[in-house]
Amino acid sequence: MANFNISAEQRQLVEEVRALALRQIAPAVGMLDEADDGRFNDGPFRALAEHNLLTPTVPQEYGGRGLGYFSTALALEELGAVCAGVATVVTANIHAASPIILAGSAGQRGTYLPPLAYAEPCLAAFALTEPEAGSDITSIATTTACNKGLWTINGVKEFVINGGLARFTTLFATTDKEDKRAGLVAFIVPYDVQGLKVGTVHNKMGIRCVRTARLILDKVIVPDELVIGPRGSAYLLLMQTFDRGRALAGAVGVGLARAAFEFALQYSKHRQQFGRPVFAQQAVSFVLAELAARIESARLLVWKACWLIDNDLDYTMASSMAKIAGSQVAQEAAAAAMDICGGRGYLKDLPVEKYLRDARVLSLIEGTNNIQKAVIASLL
Ligand SMILES: Cc1cc2nc3c(=O)[nH]c(=O)nc-3n(C[C@H](O)[C@H](O)[C@H](O)COP(=O)(O)OP(=O)(O)OC[C@H]3O[C@@H](n4cnc5c(N)ncnc54)[C@H](O)[C@@H]3O)c2cc1C
Repeated sequence: MANFNISAEQRQLVEEVRALALRQIAPAVGMLDEADDGRFNDGPFRALAEHNLLTPTVPQEYGGRGLGYFSTALALEELGAVCAGVATVVTANIHAASPIILAGSAGQRGTYLPPLAYAEPCLAAFALTEPEAGSDITSIATTTACNKGLWTINGVKEFVINGGLARFTTLFATTDKEDKRAGLVAFIVPYDVQGLKVGTVHNKMGIRCVRTARLILDKVIVPDELVIGPRGSAYLLLMQTFDRGRALAGAVGVGLARAAFEFALQYSKHRQQFGRPVFAQQAVSFVLAELAARIESARLLVWKACWLIDNDLDYTMASSMAKIAGSQVAQEAAAAAMDICGGRGYLKDLPVEKYLRDARVLSLIEGTNNIQKAVIASLL
């Protein structure tokens, strides 16, 4: 049965995350954004870890909050409204933990999940993309081979969020250059393994508080115990991880859109031109009305996708739709907010230009929006 009421517990969670984000993250957002990407400020992540919200999907038996995807999306909307970068780091941690939660052995879960729930921040990374393999993941060139229970991995991973900071990286390589899907293997790669090097740390347009780096694997050796899931199952595991993560990327977009919308609404009601607030012009108020409707639609798509995930129903198409809707509305709201704030919107004095820079990445990560359309089309 459809139910649009969030529970008392979920309402409490929203209030908790909103208060934490406004008190402990919002004051630092400008400084985090100004920081060069080479430097990393872990302040927001300390605050989140203290509330056990850095990887909120870690099951309670491993010390986590054990939040379902619906509740996690509510939390991410709040974080996304304050800083899409901080929210993106949380989605990266969730992404890295997801294969372990879904298919990890008892030993892997017992070793790698509890630190994600510690009060000291523990970052994790997810490494799939490579310089020559972006949307086309079947072209990955990171290879692996097993000899007497030891796996050797060689290759380069690109754009890795938390790269070089993560306690472990969930990483994909292939044993078979001809059939890379069947040959795909998912690994847990600990931070201190020999041969794992951090390459370029990328300097980005937006979400600048997020460390994004190249990882180089030069004869990295990991034991069989760090392979996630049975042989031949890694491709399916990867798709399940993406399908879940995409709904959450949508939630970050909804949060950013809401923040841009609320800022523009307030601004338009205060800014006087031609003797009245600019909001009194239909050209302005209709843009805001349209945005209000679009934000609500995107939120409902996110909620639906997350509800399907939590209820173990078919969520692939809904998740891709939620990701498209959330990322698009974030960009639309940020661009509209800049127009509504006029010339001031373009200045660093207001948060609007950051919204626009941050929003732009949301249609690129977790699979570009074209790839989401390909997923949806394949299911029509
Ligand atoms: C800030 C940031 C953080 C990231 N974090 C991570 C991370 O933590 N881990 C990770 O593994 N990756 C990460 N990525 C990588 C991201 O997932 C890829 O950038 C994305 O999948 C696209 O790959 P690409 O950049 O190589 O683009 P390409 O695949 O080269 O695509 C270029 C263009 O062609 C289009 N295109 C390609 N194929 C098709 C097709 N079949 N149909 C229609 N259009 C197509 C794309 O939509 C795009 O517009 C991150 C990227 C960024 C920018």
